[in-house]
Amino acid sequence: MQTLESIKLDRKAATDKIAANWQTLLAEVDQATSVAGRSVGDVQVIGVSKYVDAEITGLLVDAGCRHLGENRPQVLCEKAESAEMVGRASWHQIGHLQRNKVRPTLRHVHMIHSVDSERLLQAIASEAVKQQRTVACLLEVNISGDANKTGLDVPSLERLLLEVPKSGVRVAGLMAMAGWGTEADAAQRQFAAVRELRDRMQAEFALPLPELSMGMSGDFQAAITEGSTMVRIGTRLFDGLW
Ligand SMILES: *Cc1c(COP(=O)(O)O)cnc(C)c1O
Repeated sequence: MQTLESIKLDRKAATDKIAANWQTLLAEVDQATSVAGRSVGDVQVIGVSKYVDAEITGLLVDAGCRHLGENRPQVLCEKAESAEMVGRASWHQIGHLQRNKVRPTLRHVHMIHSVDSERLLQAIASEAVKQQRTVACLLEVNISGDANKTGLDVPSLERLLLEVPKSGVRVAGLMAMAGWGTEADAAQRQFAAVRELRDRMQAEFALPLPELSMGMSGDFQAAITEGSTMVRIGTRLFDGLW
């Protein structure tokens, strides 16, 4: 994880670079959104802070990024509790969540993007009930067919949607990643397939699934074209810092 010391920048220089990157990214997201014929504001940017420590993560919040994503639950919890970050952002768990990490994670998390099994969804629901809250969850789908990727295949997704817990969780949509090393047009087809799958599940289960979490630094424009409502952006926000 990068620190101001490891990247050899003073706080002011890092602040300015991150603020500029954030503004550039927002402009590109808005541009892609309007080119797609969608309303500006339809797409939320989740700043992925996994590359940097809590201090640099704080600079991202200073720049205006209020939704942060982490792929490791333990890091999410540590940052959410850190002096630099406490109470300043809404946290999104975007990477695999082990069931034994559900309890501490739920204390901090605003949304879980990476629900990849029925057992995990049940564990989140029962802990959420204990903590007297309802947690927004997305179901991660494996659309690339890449066996090394996490995420539910379609039959597992359908089984899970039949058994959505009645309390503790609100299933709000789907999350997906394009296959590793996928060309831009192939990534766009995968994102389109996620949207079509969402439309089909919504009709089949009479369940609103408004959110589509798809698109990262390398492919967010294609994802927005295909209906993404949340892009998870890391690398681009730290351009030029190391
Ligand atoms: C790291 C990560 C991202 C951000 O990827 P970048 O290419 O750095 O923008 C998005 N989603 C998940 C699940 C990640 O682990």
